[in-house]
Amino acid sequence: MSTGTSSSKVHTRCTVLSGGYCTHKEWVTIQGGSSRTVPFPALFALIEHPRFGPVLFDTGYTERFFQETVRLPYSLYRRMTPVYYTPQDSAAYQLRQRGIEPEDVRIIILSHFHADHIAGVRDFPNAAFVYLQEAYDAVRFRSGWSAVLAGYLPGLLPDDFETRSRPIDESRLAELPPDFPFRRGMDLFGDGSVIAVDVPGHAAGQIGILLSTGSGYIFLCADAVWSSRAFRERRPPHWLAGIIMSSRSEYMKSFDNIVQVHKRYPELQIIPSHCSEVWGSLAQGGDDGT
Ligand SMILES: [Zn+2]
Repeated sequence: MSTGTSSSKVHTRCTVLSGGYCTHKEWVTIQGGSSRTVPFPALFALIEHPRFGPVLFDTGYTERFFQETVRLPYSLYRRMTPVYYTPQDSAAYQLRQRGIEPEDVRIIILSHFHADHIAGVRDFPNAAFVYLQEAYDAVRFRSGWSAVLAGYLPGLLPDDFETRSRPIDESRLAELPPDFPFRRGMDLFGDGSVIAVDVPGHAAGQIGILLSTGSGYIFLCADAVWSSRAFRERRPPHWLAGIIMSSRSEYMKSFDNIVQVHKRYPELQIIPSHCSEVWGSLAQGGDDGT
């Protein structure tokens, strides 16, 4: 695919990484799923931009998640979604393994504020945070039970989170192809290389990103769908999963839009944040080179 803003030919390099995982019953995650307990990886992406250097899209889990879920009501989060994590799963550790110091990361793009996406942000002291204002507004005053029910753990954010925040300029619209089912995209860096796309419903103000890479576009679609099988076979999650969603109807619109994206752009790589197929390909070393 091409977008109207791709003419600048600025490409990024994208490496998808896994920051630990939790487990769910398969039937909750996908229509017609079995009663098996299945892993639910917390994927995030290292985006290397020629001008802005290393940029993260989400962060996965870190040790901090466990510290923040010791006591009620936050411990309920951990009980509902048992988390499996080793220190080698942290974004900071994995970046160091690639020769990137956490201090060198200047930008973290947050798809939304669920704990499995933001647990690592404290490890990046120089990063500015880029997100849709609506996503932060949905959680910023929540604590205790109200936070847990929104999948949010306030202690995961650094104290200076707001001063380091650079909410997306929603007037910087990117031109998307006329038949692209999602209609609003924002050009984050002004060069067409990273376009934030509204994918609401799972969480208010959730964004995915369309990334220009040397080998074409990649669509990191966050939690708009939970697996590649889900969009290939049009199998949304069970209605019970809707409990954590900001809007079931918006979710289904975004879900169906992803199904359409796949049909209209079969060559476009769509990467859901919790897809075990993508996760499996990383384990075989298939993460690099785009
Ligand atoms: Zn989420």
